[in-house]
Amino acid sequence: MDKNAMFVIDERVKRTIKNLEKNNMNGYYVQTEEEALKKIEELISEGDTVSVGGSMTLFEIGVIDLLRNGKYNFLDRYKDGLSLAEIKEVFRKSFYADAYFTSSNAITENGEIYNVDGNGNRVAAMLYGPDKVIIVVGRNKIVKDLDQAILRVEETAAPANNVRLNKNNPCTKTGHCMDCKSEQRICNEYTVIKRQGNKDRIHVIIIDNELGY
Ligand code: SF4
Repeated sequence: MDKNAMFVIDERVKRTIKNLEKNNMNGYYVQTEEEALKKIEELISEGDTVSVGGSMTLFEIGVIDLLRNGKYNFLDRYKDGLSLAEIKEVFRKSFYADAYFTSSNAITENGEIYNVDGNGNRVAAMLYGPDKVIIVVGRNKIVKDLDQAILRVEETAAPANNVRLNKNNPCTKTGHCMDCKSEQRICNEYTVIKRQGNKDRIHVIIIDNELGY
């Protein structure tokens, strides 16, 4: 990337981390996916019970493989052959995890975390339960403010996820949100994490790359 454009992105990331810290959360900027995995290994301990929210980013950078390496008690929602009842059980047990991994739909430069869920299990665990929440995002998830976060979900994240999940919702034809009333609507729970009471709970790892939707 052009060094002048890089400067602008670097400053945006630094601002975001500074404001996450003001909101009692931790932010880290890493250059590569390997560095992100190393940071994750520093944040958790062998034997920890770990779980994940649905995320393309966690697959893309190898977090799922890391959690499957046998060092952790991984509540693996993606294990082959799980029934719907077993997946529901994983979702519920995740509230007791030592660490919960997820990506995010958007992180604002003001240090806020914005997400929209279809099922609610991911945002519920981000809000309460796991001792630690580790959020891994590409730099493309950083937006100016909450208005831009909402727009990002409507114009990018939600339509792309609808296409990935092969949903017959209007956004799969138009490429942007139509605020549908469809039975298959995947946008149901809208959450903003503005601040944490416990400084050690939320950790946001920002990777200098474009990842996920
Ligand atoms: S509300 Fe409906 S149209 Fe909008 S992004 Fe979600 S599923 Fe698509």
